[in-house]
Amino acid sequence: MAEIQIKNVAKKFGAYQALSDINLTIHDQEFMVLLGASGCGKTTLLRIIAGLETATTGEVWIGGKRVDHLAPKDRGIAMVFQNYAVFPHLTVFENIGFGLRMQKLPNDVVKERVERTATLMHIEQLLKRYSGELSGGQRQRVAVARALAMEPDVILMDEPLSNLDALLRLEMRAELKGVLAESKTTAIYVTHDQVEAMSLADRISVMHQGKIIQAASPIEVYRNPAAEFVAGFIGNPPMNFLTATPAGDGKWTVAGQVIDGPRLGASQLQFAIRPEDLGPAETGLPATAKVVEPLGAHLLVTCEVDGHSFRAVLDSDLTVKPGDRLTLAPQADRIRWFDPETTLAVA
Ligand code: ATP
Repeated sequence: MAEIQIKNVAKKFGAYQALSDINLTIHDQEFMVLLGASGCGKTTLLRIIAGLETATTGEVWIGGKRVDHLAPKDRGIAMVFQNYAVFPHLTVFENIGFGLRMQKLPNDVVKERVERTATLMHIEQLLKRYSGELSGGQRQRVAVARALAMEPDVILMDEPLSNLDALLRLEMRAELKGVLAESKTTAIYVTHDQVEAMSLADRISVMHQGKIIQAASPIEVYRNPAAEFVAGFIGNPPMNFLTATPAGDGKWTVAGQVIDGPRLGASQLQFAIRPEDLGPAETGLPATAKVVEPLGAHLLVTCEVDGHSFRAVLDSDLTVKPGDRLTLAPQADRIRWFDPETTLAVA
């Protein structure tokens, strides 16, 4: 069992609070992605789990054992970091086999594991090359292969695909997901790329300003964002927001239209809807098209609704021109409501 528990972890760099109130359990064999914008604390949290950084307060447990006082090598984890420490003077084979040799495994086991992981990462043709001669993307794949070759219970990865071109990244992403599922490894993966996060994760922890705002499955963070930040961060284009005022009896006025909403006594709420959950209809939100972008599969229309910029992803067969007046009906079961004071979801 390689469950990871992070209990009340906080980290200060001098006066700067890089992490606060981090409580998170990563289940055995789970693929957890830490997602957030640059500087939100993802790498710091990963480094604390790895033992490369010490938390100011809090505890880290792996497999039922408290590990925050142990050296990185004694935590039973393999790591792949942004600055993948691949030894330039060793061949790719020697690099991938490095940890296995340290464990004094027999030559045939080393050879088999090196060749297998190299094939998985599509670098089997590079085994004899010196790592110093490789491109950034190739070195990054060597670093991933070296970690996988250790067959660890836990693997920690910090943007391990960031140096690959878009196509290779897509391919490696699928490979990595398959390999880790098959090897029953518990994985924590840091990225700022939400598509990567959605495609890889069993659960995503969305981080913002040193806190975990929501930890849930990809579809849950997408459909039921727990806070306005998550709603605006996940999804491209992001969710639309409009101010709603009470119209009595669980109804709310949004852009002059009365819509069913939560039965709350608030004086104001934020109405939120995803661009793809809108469609032209007889009644709905009055919109004026400003920019029309034909994206092939869809038509992305940036409009103005109630003085706010508002996006709709519409059927590509529709003909819409800038200046056109549209009536956009939100799909009722996809509307979300947020408290403007706490910014948390209320329905
Ligand atoms: P990125 O995606 O850019 O790597 P991140 O979310 O991983 O960002 P961290 O690297 O964890 O962010 O950094 C979180 C915050 O802590 C940043 O504001 C950073 O400047 C600060 N920080 C990180 N390491 C140190 C350090 N050793 N000393 C001082 N401040 C630090």
